[in-house]
Amino acid sequence: MFIYPSSKNRPYHFGLYPMEVLARDDALAAAEIALPKAKRVAKPKPKTLYGTAVRRYRDLFAALAQDREARAKAPLLDDLERRLVDIKGLSCFLNAAQIGVCEIPENAWLQGVKSKTRHSHAIVVLIEHGRLPESDNLASGWIEGAVDETGDMRATEIAVCIARHIRFMGFKARADVPGSEQLEHERLSVLAGLNVRQGDGLVNPFIENGFSLAVIATDYELPVDRPLSPKALSKKNSLHYWWGIKGARSGAEWNRRDKRDTHLSAYPMEIVKRVDEPTTLILEDEVPRVSKRAAFFERAVRGDLGEKTKAKRLSFSTKHPVSAAMQNMIASMVPHQEMPVEDKADLSGLSDAEANSKAVKSLSYFLGSDLTGICEIPRYAWASHNVDGSEIEPKHRYAIVMLIDQEFDTMEGASGDDWISGAQSMRGYLRGAEIAGIMGETLAGMGMSSRTHTQMDSLVLHIPLLLWAGLGELSRIGELVLNPLVGPRFKSVVLTTDLPMVPDKPIDFGLQYFCDNCWKCARECPCDAIPWGDKVMFNGYEIWKPDVERCARYRLTNSKGSACGRCMKTCPLNKVIDSDGPIFQRMASYLGIKAFWLKPIMVPLAAWLDDVVGNGKRNPVKKWWFDHEMVDDVTVEPAGTNQRDIDPTHKIDPAKQKMATYNANMMPPPDHVEPYPVNRKEALVATTVLETPAQARARKLRGGRVPIHYIPTKLMGKAGAKKEAVKQWYEDVK
Ligand code: SF4
Ligand code: SF4
Repeated sequence: MFIYPSSKNRPYHFGLYPMEVLARDDALAAAEIALPKAKRVAKPKPKTLYGTAVRRYRDLFAALAQDREARAKAPLLDDLERRLVDIKGLSCFLNAAQIGVCEIPENAWLQGVKSKTRHSHAIVVLIEHGRLPESDNLASGWIEGAVDETGDMRATEIAVCIARHIRFMGFKARADVPGSEQLEHERLSVLAGLNVRQGDGLVNPFIENGFSLAVIATDYELPVDRPLSPKALSKKNSLHYWWGIKGARSGAEWNRRDKRDTHLSAYPMEIVKRVDEPTTLILEDEVPRVSKRAAFFERAVRGDLGEKTKAKRLSFSTKHPVSAAMQNMIASMVPHQEMPVEDKADLSGLSDAEANSKAVKSLSYFLGSDLTGICEIPRYAWASHNVDGSEIEPKHRYAIVMLIDQEFDTMEGASGDDWISGAQSMRGYLRGAEIAGIMGETLAGMGMSSRTHTQMDSLVLHIPLLLWAGLGELSRIGELVLNPLVGPRFKSVVLTTDLPMVPDKPIDFGLQYFCDNCWKCARECPCDAIPWGDKVMFNGYEIWKPDVERCARYRLTNSKGSACGRCMKTCPLNKVIDSDGPIFQRMASYLGIKAFWLKPIMVPLAAWLDDVVGNGKRNPVKKWWFDHEMVDDVTVEPAGTNQRDIDPTHKIDPAKQKMATYNANMMPPPDHVEPYPVNRKEALVATTVLETPAQARARKLRGGRVPIHYIPTKLMGKAGAKKEAVKQWYEDVK
């Protein structure tokens, strides 16, 4: 086993490739600038179902490429180098492979572009194409001819997001994206030090030809990069690169990823033990279906948590310019979550469940999912009523469940509840909606009914699906499934469909034992919403039941940051597990997953050691974002920023921890328009009547009745007029 240079000290905005060590040559700029002006060349329309879906998503994002800047400039922007850290950091956060900056020469504007729309600087974003499925994989045929189109869509997504971020900071910026170019991207990529000219084409020192480009044209001044020397092209063959340069991802790790079958993720989930049922008890015949009106963020928007929380809920996702940048992009995808099914399609090519499973997994990884699992959808995973009070009919048999890693390094630089926290969630929502949306539209076009379920609009509960699809176990954090390889730091998206597939099985990596002997998330939660005590039965699930009301209030009203994810950030299982990780960490993770017999020694040791080495503290090298807040569409300096690291002294006696539980019988009626205030006093009492898992098992054996608090609150009454009122109210709020 090799020991690679640690990435701990690598500044985040340097990215995954060691671009900073490449040879540069200033003399090449003049020749590049002198090249004659190019003509616009329109790309043809895609001919395949998949290509058409990708083009639709590209165009959805491109519609937001240009707009007015905020009416005032953001503070703290005097230092140009610091600006660069923010802009390059954001592109890395959004998974650009490389990013460069240059001034825009006159010749880089395409013919016919008016001078009054021109800007001084170009930020050039380079996206690496995904791994192509093997030729005998069905997805290979689906994707054929649309690899560039996919890269263009991803480049557009990133460029639009960066341009919006700059505009929210008060500067002009236009995302110059494939399909509506005003600039010559190839020339700018050379000037910005990303590519080298070779014959008629461009070559990238690490990616060679498999990339797409987009540009942000802006008057937001930034330090510029220098053109690469042709000598830079030899770096990829060096032992130094193979070994890892200055904490960049090593050539060996890139190679390991490239060699895996495309239906497998980058993470070795195949080493994790599979079991027939989730490791936490689910009383399948007792779990009630609950309405979307009962979710706490929905309750907040209706005013159930009071007027202050309601107001904060409405501005929650636009609190920081980075999350605000993603908000409308996410919203633009919602109307496309369920596309018309092609009813004349020939379905004979989709009858092999095993081949279909492989294909959808490969497609999901090609589009950027980090982990994908498949399960049959249990009845109780469908919500009972939509937000407008209408009943939800379960309609599909299978769920494709996908995880988007919230990204280790940014979490490493953050406290978990400072100003970037909300944007980490939004990035997961954006990417998830895009991946599932494109897959769903492709399947619908093939004649397979499908629907995407995103954070903005989901008809299913994700947690049981994550468990059944074998993507994790329930953790002490409560309503959070934890994966053995990416830990708790992910967002999920679900695509339900009737495409025949082979379900995955649930997993067991001993998390119940780990969380039984570790309390770090409970200790580090800023509002003590995570239980220090044992698991209970909540609505038919065995769970460490968090105080969801307290967590929701904190996330929504956090005045020194945006949202919160401290439980994820500080969990000892929040790690990067790849061949570049520290050798000790890799061995510990492997043993943690495989060697159950070692757990009594390993778990207390790992929990103790995690604190000793300072895990969970902020790593300033990884901080790239500005501590900014958006108020009334203007970016300002916030009144404060949470500065938390870890506090090993904090402890609560479980017997004294006051936890509120809102059982199914305390939920608001599914069609309740007016505020339905939470009753915390009653919810504190409700916690005391919860069964333990052992009591629930014993009751079932005796043939005892379903607890009364599992019975959900009924509809208000005569539906018709009421439902219309709810629908209208909801439309107004949206
Ligand atoms: Fe606590 Fe924050 Fe986690 Fe909620 S998100 S449980 S407030 S640490
Ligand atoms: Fe479990 Fe500890 Fe992680 Fe909490 S911090 S989820 S107790 S492993």
